[in-house]
Amino acid sequence: MTARGEGFAKIAKKSVCVASKFSSSPRIISAMSSTQTPTQILSFEEARHLVEQHAAQVRPRGKELAELLDSAGQVLAEPVLADRDFPAFARATRDGYAVRAADLTKLPATLDVIGEIKAGGAHQAFNVQPGQAVSIMTGAAAPTGSDSIVMVEYTERQGDRVEITKGIAAGDNIVPAGSEAKRGERLLSPGLKLDHAAIAAAASVGRSHLLVYAKPKVAVLSTGDEVVDIDVAPGPNQIRNSNSYSLAAQVQTAGGEPVVLPIAPDEPERLGELISDGLEADLLLLTGGVSMGKYDLVEQVLAEFHAEFFFTGAQIQPGKPIVFGRVGASDGKKYFFGLPGNPISTMVTFELFARPMIDALAGLQPRKLIFLHARLKSEIKTKIGLKRFLPAVLSGEFEQAEVELVRWQGSGDIAAVSRASCYIVIPSDRDRIESGEWVPVLMR
Ligand code: AMP
Ligand code: MG
Repeated sequence: MTARGEGFAKIAKKSVCVASKFSSSPRIISAMSSTQTPTQILSFEEARHLVEQHAAQVRPRGKELAELLDSAGQVLAEPVLADRDFPAFARATRDGYAVRAADLTKLPATLDVIGEIKAGGAHQAFNVQPGQAVSIMTGAAAPTGSDSIVMVEYTERQGDRVEITKGIAAGDNIVPAGSEAKRGERLLSPGLKLDHAAIAAAASVGRSHLLVYAKPKVAVLSTGDEVVDIDVAPGPNQIRNSNSYSLAAQVQTAGGEPVVLPIAPDEPERLGELISDGLEADLLLLTGGVSMGKYDLVEQVLAEFHAEFFFTGAQIQPGKPIVFGRVGASDGKKYFFGLPGNPISTMVTFELFARPMIDALAGLQPRKLIFLHARLKSEIKTKIGLKRFLPAVLSGEFEQAEVELVRWQGSGDIAAVSRASCYIVIPSDRDRIESGEWVPVLMR
């Protein structure tokens, strides 16, 4: 987590609202001249798709060179090509004997052993003729003239000869040269998150450094008169700022660089200054101040920046008052999310909505949100109308994933959610789910 960026210059407050690529959509709400923000509450799926559409338009801000190991978790910004054929030689995949399959039509067959090739050993010395075999190890190059490898388990060595008891088809246990990739072929494409397998592919073509996208800077701005810094003793009616920390941690996990701003009071002028600072980052995440309360000023102050609001709520619980929009002129448009202040709402709405935008700013190829499934351990009763993401614990083993709600006191219960490992996703038209039913789960 970095402290507030020193070089953060203020941007002009009178940023212009320019018609966007999406402005033909009926869902776009523009607060051009008024500070009154219209409400637009979407279903969860509509809201998510709208964020995905916008995310598809954003680009990462730059590229940088990373050492291979340091690049884990970063997003690749260049294609990685095969520097030679893969495999570079016809590779034996078993220990045994390199043979001509046609020699094994009558069994048992006895062949002359003309030599041995170990992994890394030269195969050029041999040219296997009818009636001959070469002893060979896994990873060695198959010699000219051979077309298959008989596993050592089906052979018996007798001095310079070998008796073979099992037939084979041409091509068995040999991977032909160039069959995995030809020289110059693309092994990895830009937009891929570098995990251990991608790093193995880069290592296999001798890349000690990779071009990756620079991490997006994500400003985190908590709001609320009652919220105090964690190193301040809270008064009897105050609470410590946990949202800036949960969000900063989520931003880091998502491949962004959090820039944590000072807590904004519920007062328009200072809130406006801090929003202005936050808009210097690639993305601004606000928490709190987006509900219907008298002191919920976030939308009003954003409207003074001529923000476009794409939605001001989603039919979900927790997190219904989630706000998504954009501020700025055409060349410097910045997206923002106004996340509800309740700590669990903040966490859940980050995962559901802010993450795809951070993914895109980090250079990642877009991916759809997918829920995994687990078997419900005990019945759930709820109300219809909202899609719910309820904190839960995953258990079971192997193919038997089980899931159960944690007991919680609602979306302010940080202790309960810290005991949870996932969220059970309850469709908006279900008020009862029987135990034993397979339910969708959003992993944490
Ligand atoms: P709000 O969305 O501003 O109405 O806040 C909803 C609830 O979340 C209130 O109980 C706030 O005290 C709490 N809250 C707001 N911001 C934070 C924060 N940064 N850390 C922890 N709790 C917060
Ligand atoms: Mg508040």
